[in-house]
Amino acid sequence: MRLVIIGGGVAGVTVARLVAEADPSAEVVIYSAEELPYYPRPRLIEFLAGRLALERLPLYPREWYEERGIRLELGQRAAALDLAAQRVRLADGREVPYDHLVLAMGAHSWVPPIGGVEREGVYTLRTVEDAQAIRRDAQAAKRVVVLGGGLLGLDTSGALRALGVEVLVIEAQPWLLPRQLDREGAAVLEAILQRMGIQVITGELCTQMEGRGQVERLRLKSGRTLEAEMVVISAGVRSNIALAKEAGLACNRGIVVDEHLQTSHPQVYAVGDVAEFAGRVWAIIPAAIAQGRALGAWLSGQDGRYEGIVPSATLKVSGVDLASIGEVNPEGEGFEELRRAEPERGLYRKLVLREGRIVGAILLGDRSEFAAVSRLISQGVDVSAYGEKLLEDGALAELARG
Ligand SMILES: Cc1cc2nc3c(=O)[nH]c(=O)nc-3n(C[C@H](O)[C@H](O)[C@H](O)COP(=O)(O)OP(=O)(O)OC[C@H]3O[C@@H](n4cnc5c(N)ncnc54)[C@H](O)[C@@H]3O)c2cc1C
Repeated sequence: MRLVIIGGGVAGVTVARLVAEADPSAEVVIYSAEELPYYPRPRLIEFLAGRLALERLPLYPREWYEERGIRLELGQRAAALDLAAQRVRLADGREVPYDHLVLAMGAHSWVPPIGGVEREGVYTLRTVEDAQAIRRDAQAAKRVVVLGGGLLGLDTSGALRALGVEVLVIEAQPWLLPRQLDREGAAVLEAILQRMGIQVITGELCTQMEGRGQVERLRLKSGRTLEAEMVVISAGVRSNIALAKEAGLACNRGIVVDEHLQTSHPQVYAVGDVAEFAGRVWAIIPAAIAQGRALGAWLSGQDGRYEGIVPSATLKVSGVDLASIGEVNPEGEGFEELRRAEPERGLYRKLVLREGRIVGAILLGDRSEFAAVSRLISQGVDVSAYGEKLLEDGALAELARG
């Protein structure tokens, strides 16, 4: 079997590893547009903060690929797909035949249509080149404005703060981390961030960037203006679906796949941030790994099936312990919410229950019981007998031990 994988991120590499290990005779080739072998993108935050050297970004050395018989072609961009002829055309003009094709092209940072956004000093963070540019310019800046108070925006803010820069976060929603926190938890987090020197404005949008060449000022929806010599936009991502769309594969927000990660064409699969399953693109690592594993098993002749994930996330701002999993802002009937807030200690804990089972949790200030609550959720353990006791320190861990 000749397996061609486009994209050498976590999703593509997971598929390559599983297929190569299950069938050493399989020919597995990864074409990656990037020059570095696979590096986990969260490491970019560590690199940005100056806690990790560039050489330590890649997870595996080149020999790791060679030992498994995986051919890794770096700096090679796929330019077109010919599904009828089962060939990929690379940007350098080469035509590459395949038996099975895996599309693992990931996503790119979304840039909202803000007037003047093309000005110098405006960045997004997705690749090592982005991180290098932000790091270089932030070291010379006094203050950086981060547009977007989601996970990536806050992780980036923490890293910039570690460089000694003043940071101001602007979030359009009424509170920070709107997907992972509720209003009360976000207020506790905001106070922690303020104490660290990260300023926060919520419920505001940047509508215009002004300056001569370089960004100098931001105009907000309320009419307020702010001085800004450097801006990092962190407004979410969009799947890299252009190639797939041009080739005629069914696409929505992402490339549409079924439980075997198969696209609308039988020889072509998609995994990770580029794939849309059951109407959703999670664009997080646990989904990319779960999809990569399912497809790796399926292509190795096992019953690999992707059935979705319970999304979970942790914040990597050093000094802030936050984990969020599952349904934390439930809508509709039948949910019970348990809360414990001690803002003066920077503590907030929330559990969301449905029919006696935990379906979502926020652990802020102490996430030591994150693995325990994840287990209680995935195993659907009935915790209805415990009520408010579940909020006590150690209760989740004890229950998870059974
Ligand atoms: C700074 C940062 C921190 C993050 N932190 C977290 C976190 O803590 N937890 C979490 O769950 N998620 C996090 N994420 C998101 C996570 O990194 C993504 O969900 C994950 O990288 C998706 O993996 P992927 O393999 O699908 O795509 P990607 O990692 O985007 O890899 C796709 C690869 O395909 C290449 N490619 C694209 N088009 C082509 C082409 N035409 N030809 C050849 N190659 C191509 C790209 O260059 C890229 O190398 C973070 C993201 C960033 C940027």
